[in-house]
Amino acid sequence: MDIPFMRLDRQYAARKEDLDAVVETVFTGGRVLQGPEVRLFEQALAKTVELEHAVAVGSGTDALSLSMRALGLEPGGRVAVTSLSFVASASSIIHAGGIPLFVDVDDYYLSRLDTLEELIESQAIDGIILVHLYGQMLETQDICEKAQAKGIFVIEDAAQALGATHADKPPGHFSDAACISFDPTKVIGAFGSGGSIVTHRKDMAEKCRCLRYHGQSKKGIYSEIGYNSQMHTVQAAMLLEKLKYLNTWQEHRESIAARYNDAIASLPKIQAPRIAEKNTHIYHKYVLRAGNDRDRLLEHLTKAGIGTAIHYATPLSKQPCFSGKAEITHGGCHKAEEAANEVLSLPIYPELQDEEVAYITEMLGKFFR
Ligand SMILES: *Cc1c(COP(=O)(O)O)cnc(C)c1O
Repeated sequence: MDIPFMRLDRQYAARKEDLDAVVETVFTGGRVLQGPEVRLFEQALAKTVELEHAVAVGSGTDALSLSMRALGLEPGGRVAVTSLSFVASASSIIHAGGIPLFVDVDDYYLSRLDTLEELIESQAIDGIILVHLYGQMLETQDICEKAQAKGIFVIEDAAQALGATHADKPPGHFSDAACISFDPTKVIGAFGSGGSIVTHRKDMAEKCRCLRYHGQSKKGIYSEIGYNSQMHTVQAAMLLEKLKYLNTWQEHRESIAARYNDAIASLPKIQAPRIAEKNTHIYHKYVLRAGNDRDRLLEHLTKAGIGTAIHYATPLSKQPCFSGKAEITHGGCHKAEEAANEVLSLPIYPELQDEEVAYITEMLGKFFR
């Protein structure tokens, strides 16, 4: 059996008629940038995360750097961020003029809260990027209250957490803003790039809206140096269509995860993902832990035709692009480094068929027999 890690072709095939119709409407209307669908998508997205404002931009990375710019990050300002994530969680800080300060992770692959609390307490930072990795959230309320009391901003990197909740609240409720990505690999993916800032702060939404189009505050008046980061109308229209399936697709992923969890329960050498208290896990990624066996397990699954991936093989603290441009918190990022050597992601898309899941669990079992 051949089971690729992603199957976007199946997702399109299943909804071809609807998606084609959406494209035709946009192209016929002719407003390929800032067409009415962009606003409609923003409204639908804001409703999904139970917030007032959404500002669609060109990518999740832009959402992050624009929101830091909007919050007035000073050149050279320090921003705490996890050491285990996609590169953009930290490169966006540099784009916005700041210096990433890498924090180690806990048993859930999320930033260590005790380290963040120390950094807030000692006022060693100007801001925090809270990354909700793999599909579950880091606690936000307490950290945001403490940070706010010291004038430290908090932005949530919710690129992998659309649909997730902590204590029944989606991302963006306590922080200054949350950033979402619609990269094709994410749970709701554009046919290209896309991102959005979501926030309860009206001033923040207005600032981001201004920055995303050259800093234009009134027609023809550019009050500051901005970006050109617009979500294309056709992407917004297709995302609006796909957003309808957020819950259905999430249920599918959860049921696949439950089957992986069951299979892994009888394999003492692998560890299933853990879910932190008060969290729902949307399983954007299904990341198991295979200790020293990771590389051999990857090879075994590849030979069996099963596509896997490693999120992430190199912690951010060791990425060459940050050399000389970032700092590491006292104590290092050892748990992130350990995880980088031991984690493995299995395919987990809603279009994965029952017999494919059965084959994957069977092949997992065979490796350890
Ligand atoms: C995908 C991702 C981003 C960047 O989003 P893009 O839309 O690809 O620019 C940022 N942070 C995390 C954690 C991501 O997974």
